[in-house]
Amino acid sequence: MRKISILVLFALLIGACAPLSLTPQITTEEGTPVVVDYGGTNGEIARRYLAAMNEIGARWSGSAEEAEAGQYIVAAFAQMGYASEFQPFSATGDEGEAIDSANIIAVKEGDSSKVIIVGAHYDSGEEGRGADDNGSGVAVMLAAAGLVADAPTPYTLYFIAFGAEEAGLFGSDAFVSALGAGEIQDIVLFINLDSVSAGDIAYVYSPENEAEARNWAMDWAGTNGYDLQTIRNVDLSDEDGYTTGDHAAFDQAGIAWIYFEATNWNLGDQDGYTQVDTQYGEEGAIIHARYDDLDYLDEVFPGRVDQRLDLFVTVLHALLTQFQMP
Ligand SMILES: [Zn+2]
Repeated sequence: MRKISILVLFALLIGACAPLSLTPQITTEEGTPVVVDYGGTNGEIARRYLAAMNEIGARWSGSAEEAEAGQYIVAAFAQMGYASEFQPFSATGDEGEAIDSANIIAVKEGDSSKVIIVGAHYDSGEEGRGADDNGSGVAVMLAAAGLVADAPTPYTLYFIAFGAEEAGLFGSDAFVSALGAGEIQDIVLFINLDSVSAGDIAYVYSPENEAEARNWAMDWAGTNGYDLQTIRNVDLSDEDGYTTGDHAAFDQAGIAWIYFEATNWNLGDQDGYTQVDTQYGEEGAIIHARYDDLDYLDEVFPGRVDQRLDLFVTVLHALLTQFQMP
């Protein structure tokens, strides 16, 4: 009897001492997605969202995993008090495959009816776990949405998780295509978040003729001890000349944009695709490779993911609460 009691007590103690997992449960037994406690530093909040996206794994455009990630994002928004809206769309990918996907949109009313849109695609390439590309962007967006949920903001804010970016920028295209002329006029700025956790250097880009928000973000970051750099006259087109990134549709509609990314424009072909030293990742690329995995990033670059997430959430939060267009 006594022996058994001690064993039971021992087992209970082991259970009580087990480290709390930072990885959120994605669904309850009833199938309802849940997220973990909301608290900690900006980087810690974002990391929980990133861990959840990483746990879902690769989320190819239109896949079941993309849809699962969408459910997680809806639940995360709901926990902050946002009723998010689904914007479903269909598209055809390069291989002729049918893509059914959806954007997820949460709106926060601001002092003005003029709008700033924060966007991050939640699908990923087929390799790796889509941690950096683009679990990290989604994580920064969700963390910022939570921080401003009950705070006054100068502008009305739209937080949009875009579907099917990887197969051809379909989500951002569907969103912009559905806007009326008056709605386009109301949008003062689009902020894209894509692959913000792995690269050597934190950047913010924008067109040079509409650089007010970019310059504000860089000034704020510098004043507050964050190293945020830019590439002037940045060229974000791929080798075939196509603009890559969810800012493209906004740019075509004449909407000002900025783009947050972590990479290293000094390496490789100096085109922003070599994110880290070429001995790591796929010759320096993390995205679209099996190295796009949170465990790999934490092991090879200790502390980097948390530091990047903290920087981008903090700068974005400052921008959303303080920046005003001239
Ligand atoms: Zn991406």
